[in-house]
Amino acid sequence: MEEVRKEEVEDNTDIIMEGALIARDRVGVQDFVLLDSHTSEAAFLNNLRKRYQENLIYTYIGTLLVSVNPYKELDIYTVTQMQLYRGVNFFELPPHLYAIADNAYRVMCSEYNNHFILISGESGAGKTEASKKILQYYAVTCPTTEQLQVVRDRLLLSNPVLEAFGNAKTLRNDNSSRFGKYMDIQFDFKGAPVGGHILSYLIEKSRVVHQNHGERNFHIFYQLLEGGEKDLLCWLGLERNPQKYAYLIQGRCAKVFSINDKNDWKIVRKAFSIIDFTEKDLEHLFGIVASVLHLGNIQFEEDSNGHAIIRNGTQIKWISKLLGVHLSILQESLTHRKIEARSEEVLSPLNVDLAFYARDAVAKAIYGRTFTWLVNKINGSLANKDSTRKTVIGLLDIYGFEVLDTNSFEQFCINYCNEKLQQLLIEMTLKAEQEEYEMEGIEDEECLRPGEATDLSFLEKLEEKVGDHAHFVTRKLADQKTRKSIDWVDFRLLHYAGEVTYCAVGFLEKNNDLLYRNLKEVLCNSKNGIIRECFLLSELDSRRRPETVATQFKNSLMSLIEILMSKEPSYIRCIKPNENKEPGKFDDCLIRHQVKYLGLMEHLRVRRAGFAYRRKYEHFLQRYKSLCPATWPHWHGPAAEGVERLIKHIGYKPEEYKLGRTKIFIRFPKTLFATEDAFEI
Ligand code: ATP
Ligand code: MG
Repeated sequence: MEEVRKEEVEDNTDIIMEGALIARDRVGVQDFVLLDSHTSEAAFLNNLRKRYQENLIYTYIGTLLVSVNPYKELDIYTVTQMQLYRGVNFFELPPHLYAIADNAYRVMCSEYNNHFILISGESGAGKTEASKKILQYYAVTCPTTEQLQVVRDRLLLSNPVLEAFGNAKTLRNDNSSRFGKYMDIQFDFKGAPVGGHILSYLIEKSRVVHQNHGERNFHIFYQLLEGGEKDLLCWLGLERNPQKYAYLIQGRCAKVFSINDKNDWKIVRKAFSIIDFTEKDLEHLFGIVASVLHLGNIQFEEDSNGHAIIRNGTQIKWISKLLGVHLSILQESLTHRKIEARSEEVLSPLNVDLAFYARDAVAKAIYGRTFTWLVNKINGSLANKDSTRKTVIGLLDIYGFEVLDTNSFEQFCINYCNEKLQQLLIEMTLKAEQEEYEMEGIEDEECLRPGEATDLSFLEKLEEKVGDHAHFVTRKLADQKTRKSIDWVDFRLLHYAGEVTYCAVGFLEKNNDLLYRNLKEVLCNSKNGIIRECFLLSELDSRRRPETVATQFKNSLMSLIEILMSKEPSYIRCIKPNENKEPGKFDDCLIRHQVKYLGLMEHLRVRRAGFAYRRKYEHFLQRYKSLCPATWPHWHGPAAEGVERLIKHIGYKPEEYKLGRTKIFIRFPKTLFATEDAFEI
């Protein structure tokens, strides 16, 4: 497979080379591998900047695509553009998402194998936009039938639904995905999209009950209030004004200029009907969304014994109605905790703080599990029931490496995830390179091993030790690292992308994700169909110790890696150009950081540490034969021998090239540039 892809690349090297040489000075090179200076970060940034200023937001590193968010609409996503990239060899046209999408698709069709496209980058870099554009590309360019139109529409419309429930306005991005997403698009043997499957990762539940200044809760809450029909709001006991809901206004920005909640509500409603949600499903779903809002408005006060009591009965009545749970039992479970003592169950009253904690825990739990239910429901509607063999292209839109002022449990999980995916990239890139060298009989090169910057053994070691001894390991690391006394609640990890200090406050709580037993009982007996599906009675079996969030996440990540390992990779690395969502502004410092976090220099080094170019003897000879009298105008012997004569004549030094079975491998771009220059003269 690799072979096919590389052949295509090589077939078109002439075109890139010419294009690159002519336009190099003005718009930079369209493949970083072609940079003729040393692989310095400065040259890399320079090239990226030049291109960005010309609205050329895409650049390759070999077959990896680097994308810089333009923060403005570019005229490069039209149907005409899509048609242009369809079926065209990889390097024939300027770098584009569509070229990556089309290449994966074409190889899948011809080789009948599975692929994934990993899209990574920090918040606001353009991952979700890229994944949506790729999906659109397939929707427009792949063959389809009338029957399959439904699948196509459902695939496309799963996005607005998941974004409504899983995205939120943050300081970094007005439409920030607060969950990781992996979506398989399934194709039949004719290459038509016939189904799909989504896996979601670690939805940020804490946002349901708390938002930082300048941030919002998940979009769906505001959409429902702004756009919801009058009758619906009345049935849910909601007022239209978001200011009335404590869970919606902590960030003090319920209204966002760039977001049209009312309009988005209409899109989401339409999407629901096409994805096959029944009116009953929606009644239950919006009942849960409204219950969360009512929960947030419940206030507690102290009785004369210092125990919590609910201040006003209105909200709890609505929740009881919407979730189909018994009013007095719900009331009791929000203010008491059931404790098992000597095979007896005792109700212990909560103080006000614990009652607030219990309230927030319910809100987070029902929202989080409803999100999982939603993903499953969408999967049901995307499922292809016929049993013929299918191939897939998986799109992975996953949160990038994240360093905030205060880094908590969420950043810990996110960065761990990035560490794992980076490791995968390095392994897979190296594997592909090495396989080709072996096939061509080129000896293994020491320089191809990843350098220290990607030595990921650190995290593996941590991984071994985390679990029962997490605290110990992290304390020790912190002490070793700083060699001075540090605040005991902080610990520091050395990630591939740099050091990150985590604040351990709240770690345990977030990791245990505790919901009091009697609240679980209430939810298990709910008459709301979704809640009942999400809270199973079997959970109440006290012998079963629930898995911690970190363990669950780690396991789901392991399965993801396994899924990816069995597929052919393509990579898109997204870069955020500035912190202000401003078009045209290229913030060197910010971008330099991301180039590092995304491992781009490392990737480039791997591409160039070996052999920057490889070309079939026939192609090489065809292009350069005029440079040597022995090969011009015709060479009648084997192409390999012709190439040998040719390079001897033009003076390639032994360290500059290697001759494989079918190809010549050239180590440095400058060698080929020199040949190109001679050729032009
Ligand atoms: P997060 O990790 O927070 O989910 P993200 O990487 O998914 O971030 P996006 O939501 O894809 O980021 O992009 C952020 C915003 O940047 C978009 O809402 C859009 O305004 C702009 N943007 C991203 N990519 C493009 C593009 N190719 N063309 C025009 N605008 C873009
Ligand atoms: Mg996103």
